[in-house]
Amino acid sequence: MAVPGGSIAVELAGESATLDRTALMHWVRESAAAVATFYGHFPISTTRLLVALRPGSGVSGGRTWADDGGLIRIRVGESTTPAEYANDWVLVHEMTHLALPSLPDDQEWLEEGLATYVEPLARAQAGNLSDEDVWSGMVDGMPKGLPQAGDRGLDRTHTWGRTYWGGALFCLLADLEIRRRTGNTHGLQDALRAILASGNMEISSGIGPLLATGDRAVGVPVLQELYARQKDLAETTDLDALWRQLGVVPLGRTVRFDDDAPEAAIRRSLTAPRKATP
Ligand SMILES: [Zn+2]
Repeated sequence: MAVPGGSIAVELAGESATLDRTALMHWVRESAAAVATFYGHFPISTTRLLVALRPGSGVSGGRTWADDGGLIRIRVGESTTPAEYANDWVLVHEMTHLALPSLPDDQEWLEEGLATYVEPLARAQAGNLSDEDVWSGMVDGMPKGLPQAGDRGLDRTHTWGRTYWGGALFCLLADLEIRRRTGNTHGLQDALRAILASGNMEISSGIGPLLATGDRAVGVPVLQELYARQKDLAETTDLDALWRQLGVVPLGRTVRFDDDAPEAAIRRSLTAPRKATP
């Protein structure tokens, strides 16, 4: 399958008479398009996608490696419906991993946090996820990333919550601060594109040079400053105040938006439609 900036070889492991191959290929294409939209192109020129078929329906169990290109393994139920494919976040999350150089174990929070943060934004920018779904996911997820008692900072607290959602909160805070300091002309997305231009998952990097590359691209040292504050200290965030600032109003299991909020324009910028460069 050709995707903007590369190709993906889809390999099915297992036999199935019920599998909707058209729906499966559409899902792969849409997921790749979302990631290409966010980064400007797909992050690695050649990727193998190993689809392990299982009974039942739904998508689960993704893992991603760099191995002579990208290598993604994912489990897919043979009865997965087009609606279930359309709602899946796992494949976009896995493909997002391809765009970041491999970091040391202590910075797994940035690898997982970035994939967690970028996935809904990429799907929204590509037109595949509503703003309500993006922000209700953040309102639901970000509290899981706050430091708990005994927390020693992101580099030293390797719990599930701090790794996935603590990392995602780091990304959200960085994105908002870059946008504040640049008059909303630049965001984390610009920093991430510059980091990808310096190397994808196929290379290894320390976190220092990587954050410096991102900061240089946006002209403000937000990533390095935030990392210095949060790497070995528990810094909490008043999320309720943050949602008010952005005009995100929790409403049962969804959210509504207040466009008179001080940073409503920043909120809208994060999910504004974009196109991949051909
Ligand atoms: Zn992941």
